[in-house]
Amino acid sequence: MATTPSVQVKPGKLFIGGKWVEASSGKTFPTVNPATGETITVLAEAGEADVEAAVRAARAAFEAGPWPEMSAADRGKLLLRLADLVEKNIEEFAYLETIDNGKPIFESRYVDLPMVIEVLQYYAGWATKIHGETIPVRGPFFNYTLREPVGVVAAIVPWNFPLLLASWKVAPALAAGNTVIWKPAQLTSLTALKFAEMCQQAGVPDGVVNVLTGKGSVVGMGLVKHPGVDKIALTGSTETGKAVMRAGADTLKRITLELGGKSPNIVLADADLDAAVKGAYNAIFYGKGEVCAAGSRLFVDKKIHDTFLAKLVERTRKLQPADPLDPKTRLGALVSEEQMKKVLDYVEVGKKEGARLVAGGARAAVGNGKGCFVLPTIFDAVRNDMRLAQEEIFGPVLAAIEFADLDEVIREANRNPYGLAAAVWTRDIRQAHYVAHRLQAGTVWINAYNVYDPAAPFGGYKASGFGRELGMHALEHYTQVKDVWVNLKD
Ligand code: NAD
Repeated sequence: MATTPSVQVKPGKLFIGGKWVEASSGKTFPTVNPATGETITVLAEAGEADVEAAVRAARAAFEAGPWPEMSAADRGKLLLRLADLVEKNIEEFAYLETIDNGKPIFESRYVDLPMVIEVLQYYAGWATKIHGETIPVRGPFFNYTLREPVGVVAAIVPWNFPLLLASWKVAPALAAGNTVIWKPAQLTSLTALKFAEMCQQAGVPDGVVNVLTGKGSVVGMGLVKHPGVDKIALTGSTETGKAVMRAGADTLKRITLELGGKSPNIVLADADLDAAVKGAYNAIFYGKGEVCAAGSRLFVDKKIHDTFLAKLVERTRKLQPADPLDPKTRLGALVSEEQMKKVLDYVEVGKKEGARLVAGGARAAVGNGKGCFVLPTIFDAVRNDMRLAQEEIFGPVLAAIEFADLDEVIREANRNPYGLAAAVWTRDIRQAHYVAHRLQAGTVWINAYNVYDPAAPFGGYKASGFGRELGMHALEHYTQVKDVWVNLKD
């Protein structure tokens, strides 16, 4: 069991109806620190009976008791209390995220956690601003709408930003008056359990937030198929998204999907080169490249290609994977052995396809040598039709592609199944917007990469999914409209 002077990681239980319980089967599974290969602790492995119990608790909390009676203002205050509690415990949350996921403590402490707090605060503000409207209909009628919660929401979350991506679902769901069953990824459940403790401390009524740890195929699927669940909010792979849509059809689930990406990052010849080099570097190596919006396809104008690549490679060679708990570390461990193997397999694919490996391309030995560390990797001379450029690798592997013409690069950037994010680097404002309007992506950054804000909507085009998280757009998915007619005459 991993410890620091202040953090003892206890074995994990399920959080159902406000109570901590073992899995009804008694089964557990280990959670491992990918930087050391050591088991951190064991967690309860939920099964069908636990899914049933959680749905019952979430439904009961949605339909009766304090939650449906609570005013919007009080729901807002509850979210603010949760934000305060996360802030008070920020060091512990950051530590848990880092040992569980392998990401640098710098990122957990100064990027993920601050945004979790801001997301809770942002949706706390929305709680009192969700309302219907009056409509001037024909005839002697008063017509108005109510904007009501959808019911029980299953939040199914991946392992790359475990608490952050959960907050994008849980905060708007609660602001709108829904109840939640949160299914963290099997590899990274620790911060979900810690958050459940915060819910208890904040006074969230029993059953309003439930946490089920365990397998996607059992818990995730169980929630998707359950008639007592009204909505599925999934962030995960495109394959899982398809499986969820198929299985959710029988009970006509409301579904929003945030899926994979292979985002193009386009550098035009007139760009501020140093800014663009730094941007391209952060676009792929931030979060170990295990970022759905990672700028993993770099398109560089051939006029500047050689200078640009030389600068990028020089910068990349200075980035060494290191102990994620060291505050100076900027590249941590990949989340698991399996993920590391997948990434290293893609390095071999790239070599076989004839791309030129110009940086990294191998595992790195850090600490006890058992961690899942991979050197930051760049392939040059990639063609957009290679697997290296078409498939999501989800690791620190960049595919650099040269181009000669603006319309050609827009066409090639769009020639990919995904459409999550994109960026363009140029000093020409007209070209910047021209490109931004033509890219098929849910987010386009101009002279920036990987910037997010609770108020700015985020989500995919094409195989990257549908629905939007964050901003007011997310609230559409957590509410439904009821129209009421009042006869004013007879
Ligand atoms: P994954 O699809 O394997 O798992 C995501 C979640 O779904 C996990 O909680 C998992 O247990 C659950 N799950 C798996 N199979 C399921 C099933 N059949 N039914 C119901 N639930 C199931 O994804 P991952 O490996 O955890 O995460 C990486 C993927 O997530 C990448 O493809 C990445 O691009 C994507 N992602 C997307 C975004 C975004 O916002 N678009 C953000 C982060 C990650």
